[in-house]
Amino acid sequence: MFGSRTDRQTVTCIGCGESVARSDAREYDKHGNRWERHEKEFEFFCTDCFSDLCRQPREGLETTLDAAGAGETDRETFLERYRELSEERNVER
Ligand SMILES: [Zn+2]
Repeated sequence: MFGSRTDRQTVTCIGCGESVARSDAREYDKHGNRWERHEKEFEFFCTDCFSDLCRQPREGLETTLDAAGAGETDRETFLERYRELSEERNVER
């Protein structure tokens, strides 16, 4: 479904795994320091996932992302854990 143009930089959403244009993605730094960019890898969410995440308390989000191993595990594992953790949280509310 994605356009064939490849001249735009794309990033991978860590929430759903979709490729999105860098310009459309939301940068997420789980360490909370956006100004220290030296040798850092940012993670990205597509706008859909980002707005989903923003409905959750930031504090819980950090915990969930960390618990899921954001930036430390491969993406498949992270997404799997993240979904599980998110579902648990949604159930508990
Ligand atoms: Zn997404």
